[in-house]
Amino acid sequence: MSEHTPPSLPATPAPDLIGQVHAFLLVWYAAEQRDLPWRATNDPYAILVSEMMLQQTQVDRVLPKYQQFLATFPTLEALAVAPTAEVISAWVPLGYNMRAVRLQSIARQVIAEYEGRIPDSIDELLKLKGIGRYTAGAIACFAYGKQVATVDTNIRRVLHRIFLGIEQSRESDAHMLELAEQVLPPGEAYPWNQALMDLGATICTSNNPQCSGCPLQEPCQAYQEMCQHSLFPSGTVLRQLRKVAEKKPAYQPFTSSNRYFRGRIVDYLRTLPAEQRVPLAELGPRIKPEFSSDDFPWLQKLVKGLARDGLVDVADEGVRLP
Ligand code: SF4
Repeated sequence: MSEHTPPSLPATPAPDLIGQVHAFLLVWYAAEQRDLPWRATNDPYAILVSEMMLQQTQVDRVLPKYQQFLATFPTLEALAVAPTAEVISAWVPLGYNMRAVRLQSIARQVIAEYEGRIPDSIDELLKLKGIGRYTAGAIACFAYGKQVATVDTNIRRVLHRIFLGIEQSRESDAHMLELAEQVLPPGEAYPWNQALMDLGATICTSNNPQCSGCPLQEPCQAYQEMCQHSLFPSGTVLRQLRKVAEKKPAYQPFTSSNRYFRGRIVDYLRTLPAEQRVPLAELGPRIKPEFSSDDFPWLQKLVKGLARDGLVDVADEGVRLP
């Protein structure tokens, strides 16, 4: 193998193992699936909205906002023509407000380049700026019923544990997608992908997998490894996770992070009448009571970043929502 050749995945899991996992997981999902509103629709726009919201935000926080957002912008066209400031306002308090701007720019691109119809193939979906492979797969599968695999954080973790065993190191995204494609049950992509996400969110969680109540105990490779090495109750899964956690950068309180202050700026601008700008010198003390002239370069940098992300509009007279 050359120095540049990525290591290949272990061999495709045995057909018997794959079949057993399909049977157990799909039966479990049929009985235990979470009742989520985006599962009651195949409207590609509604699914796009839910997927954008679910990036970086927990389901229980997305639930009330999802319905509200769709009530405000019921169609892709309504979203595309709305003032960006209104879209950002409707997104708060989900956070990571850039997603709102990105979502609107996707809507505008779909209107401009696809006659208002969200494409149904992974290749075309990936041409939409701001849509990655996971979201493309989710829309193709959940809205259009395409038989495609898709890998988000939960699916990655669950597939790894079931088919490859305890996570000793991080497999590449390409390898995990390859595995997801190898084990996709024919004709069952929708319930399969949803089931993997549900299992990852409720039982096979990152820090505290509930193996004793898991329908996949028998075929799960990670579970077999843990049993073999008598790793319960404080198994290697958890030790591995602790190692990863130890490598995390030193903790910084959220209220002193730049993300916090970016949110504060957007929140404050939302309170102003439409089109009204606020000079930076006035904005500083509004978002940070102890603001001093030393903070000015920091504030300028924050505002520049927000402008680059399309979240604010900057001019000589000051800043406003776009
Ligand atoms: S048996 Fe444990 S590790 Fe395996 S899928 Fe279930 S919860 Fe995850």
